[in-house]
Amino acid sequence: MGVTGPRLQSTIFEKSHPGRGGGKIPHPPKDALERLPAAARRAAPPALPQLNELEMVRHYVNLSQLNFAIDTGFYPLGSCTMKFNPKVNEWAARLPGFAGLHPLAPDATAQGTLQILWELQEILAEISGMAAVSLQPAAGAQGELTGILMIRAYHRSRGDHDRKEVLVPDSSHGTNPATASMAGFRTITVPSAPDGGVDVDAFRAALGPRTAAVMITNPSTLGLFESRIGELLEAVHAAGALAYMDGANLNAILGRFKPGEAGFDVMHINTHKTFSTPHGGGGPGAGPVGVGPLLVPFLPAPRVLRNDDGSFRLERPGERPTSIGRLRSFVGNTGVLVRAYAYLRAHGAEGLMEVSQDAVLAANYLKSRLVGTYDIPYARHCKHEFVASAASIKRATGIRTLDIAKRLIDYGFHPPTIYFPLIVEEGMLIEPTETESVETLDAFADALITIAAEAAASPELVHDAPHTAPVRRLDEATAARQPNLRWRPMTGVETPCPD
Ligand SMILES: *Cc1c(COP(=O)(O)O)cnc(C)c1O
Repeated sequence: MGVTGPRLQSTIFEKSHPGRGGGKIPHPPKDALERLPAAARRAAPPALPQLNELEMVRHYVNLSQLNFAIDTGFYPLGSCTMKFNPKVNEWAARLPGFAGLHPLAPDATAQGTLQILWELQEILAEISGMAAVSLQPAAGAQGELTGILMIRAYHRSRGDHDRKEVLVPDSSHGTNPATASMAGFRTITVPSAPDGGVDVDAFRAALGPRTAAVMITNPSTLGLFESRIGELLEAVHAAGALAYMDGANLNAILGRFKPGEAGFDVMHINTHKTFSTPHGGGGPGAGPVGVGPLLVPFLPAPRVLRNDDGSFRLERPGERPTSIGRLRSFVGNTGVLVRAYAYLRAHGAEGLMEVSQDAVLAANYLKSRLVGTYDIPYARHCKHEFVASAASIKRATGIRTLDIAKRLIDYGFHPPTIYFPLIVEEGMLIEPTETESVETLDAFADALITIAAEAAASPELVHDAPHTAPVRRLDEATAARQPNLRWRPMTGVETPCPD
């Protein structure tokens, strides 16, 4: 391991040299400028960087190598399911018939894409045990909003206007309460039971005529499989509320548990997590929602439908007046949906069961290697991801989870999700998924164990990490509050310089 890593590079504007250029552009006619209306012409040339082609290629290729990616290393973010994306999915999504299809193409010329989307709706309905699926939402968070808006429409359609509350457990993902408030509800947080699962009695006490919905993540963000779902859903429905399942962790229950059959009324599926698609850096994604019979009338429009003659079409505007309407342009993020379709068809039903089995095996293996070095809450439970806490290490050495996460970068690993779920002190949420080899899992466990020893023997080494990354510790609060995301020229177009 070297002690210096790649260096930050100058921006492409700083590399610019006036007059330098790349490709040759054929000479335009002499009076080309005069042919343009004066109002449409620039007064001064645009402040574009001026580089030759080789400089430009090196700039971007070097920049790309500063990124961490699942294709270059282990990416154990918990709750995010960062699995390997088989390259055949990329091939499929890039087929010109899919990639080049105009989003306004008439149904007759879009039959192949419509068929794939319709089949994907059917497959996801089967996997989730739901009555119907909409592929429209662009991400899990938007799927949540879609689901909660459908729940709101359902209560309103029954003249039930007093249901203003959404109950979430304290282990929930931040998007759950955010969704509830965006849809105009008040979030009530219900504490977890001592075993880390949902506290059914606490939910019973909070449920009432003001409850619109409960939102449950199953398996939970503690990595636990909820064992009292039946009881909980019975209480929810008896109170006249509906049950939302956050399906971000579907990877762990594929082929084993169907939320719709268990009684959930609506769920979202993060196709980019469960069914591959590289999504580091926030996208792209697709968050289809599945609904039980009560919510089918409210699904977003347009849905993809199959005609009696076997051809496919989009719902026409106004065809289903009960719909909550459109959540996203066109039919959804088609490229991501094609990848999910390719993944699902490549695995088949049995392959998907192997996915959940191997994911749980990998998580339990890694967990068992770290027991003793880190505190593992609810360690004896079977997990698909797990929280390792550095609370004891912090008490003994002053080294915190943030330091350990930064030190992992020096060992070539992307840090896991840290300080989430909020209910575990100094937590790291680790999810290996089914796609990592035992050698990689061992190397990661070895690194975490070595770092724990370093924390005791030479805490400053860990505290000052990373030592090999292009940047060290960033001021994350300032970066979040005053993001500086844009380069601006300060002294005119010819001599650009950074902010
Ligand atoms: C990822 C995640 C979400 C949000 O999904 P996005 O696709 O990132 O919008 C919601 N809940 C849980 C538990 C998640 O892990």
